[in-house]
Amino acid sequence: LLPPLRVAVTGAAGQIGYQLVTRIASGEMLGKNQPIHLSCIETPQGMKALRGVVMELEDCAFPLLKSVSATDQVDKGFADADFAILVGAKPRGPGMERRDLLASNAQIFAEQGRALNKVASREVRVLVVGNPANTNALVAAANAPDIWAEQITAMSRLDQNRAITQLALKMHCDVAEVERVIIWGNHSTTQYPDLSHALVRGEWIRPRIDEDWYRNEFIPRIQKRGAEVIEARGASSAASAANGAIDHMRDLWLGAGNKWLSMSVPSDGSYGIDACLWYSVPCLCPGAHFRRILELPVDEFSASMMERTRKELIEERDAVRHLLPR
Ligand code: NDP
Repeated sequence: LLPPLRVAVTGAAGQIGYQLVTRIASGEMLGKNQPIHLSCIETPQGMKALRGVVMELEDCAFPLLKSVSATDQVDKGFADADFAILVGAKPRGPGMERRDLLASNAQIFAEQGRALNKVASREVRVLVVGNPANTNALVAAANAPDIWAEQITAMSRLDQNRAITQLALKMHCDVAEVERVIIWGNHSTTQYPDLSHALVRGEWIRPRIDEDWYRNEFIPRIQKRGAEVIEARGASSAASAANGAIDHMRDLWLGAGNKWLSMSVPSDGSYGIDACLWYSVPCLCPGAHFRRILELPVDEFSASMMERTRKELIEERDAVRHLLPR
């Protein structure tokens, strides 16, 4: 067994958090030989439910789980964290504008960025799941000047997983036979699920894809899949979101060979995306870090889709500018 690593999860008693913590504790995220100290963080109102989650974790007797703690103080919860998964965020209330949601969540993520900066391991890997995830990652990073921006990523893996399955269903193949599906941009309805480079059974399939299906069924379905799940389940996706977070962190940490994985990472200016927007791009994960896949050809349709989601991220950034210290 390896020396234990410390994993902090915010919103640990929420829908996604509840799904996530058991999978982390069972070793699905960091591997079956990696002992874990788990730090669960909630709001003061969430602490009672969190005590129940902690009891359940204890009752699982997970061999890899060395300790589990619960707190509503981020300074305590993030102490020495090697991994921090930021799930907790304010849901949109009735009559609430997108701008209000951005502002109230940005406050939460500014505070969490400051806490991570102060108390987390200098090597901490942060994954932002709580929405608006990309802009929350930007706010957290801006408030954590001693942590390298690339240690902070936001989740687009659920969107990628959704896109892979929809393509596999269309092509009557196994999900494992689908490669190189890309999610560009914001985790929102402007995201661009791109099949320009996709392979099925090792073969480039763009020329075989029906254009009408691609533009009018596939793309909108991925963009609005969250709403489709809410409509059917009466609650937002939780198991699949937690699964996306596990996939993201596992591949980032343990490596994923030559798989193309979409992650929202701080832009380095490539593909005409403004530096320091957390924009989803295809990456390779050789283990412990990511590398952007650069210089892919971008056709006119893709360029227009990528531009639309870039503009939305700029608008979001401008709405939280007051929380971005210089
Ligand atoms: P969920 O666990 O369902 O959702 C948490 C966050 O994840 C939301 O921002 C949500 O965005 C986002 N999310 C939901 N579905 C997806 C998806 N499919 N893909 C990507 N992101 C997704 O919410 P709950 O209300 O059940 O739980 C939130 C918990 O966080 C509560 O227990 C609350 O007390 C806690 N909280 C903790 C904080 C802290 O630790 N400091 C701060 C604020 C809240 P969306 O709203 O768009 O669905």
